[in-house]
Amino acid sequence: MPLYDFKCLDCGEQFEALVLKASTPSCPACQSAHLEQLISMFSVDSASTRQTNIDRARRANVKGHRDKAIADAEAIRDHDD
Ligand SMILES: [Zn+2]
Repeated sequence: MPLYDFKCLDCGEQFEALVLKASTPSCPACQSAHLEQLISMFSVDSASTRQTNIDRARRANVKGHRDKAIADAEAIRDHDD
């Protein structure tokens, strides 16, 4: 389901909304359509599930950095040879 996080630019309310074709979400607090869509990678309806997904993505990201660090170290070592 196309579930997105939004922040109302008029009153600061943050909320999730289903965005269907040809429909524009509006702020539940002030009905403003002046919204900023926040980055939301997963369409889930459970906060705990989403947190798990974020943690998983974060770990994958850390692993990528570590692999790059190893690659950099090997490149430096090879250069010294
Ligand atoms: Zn609002």
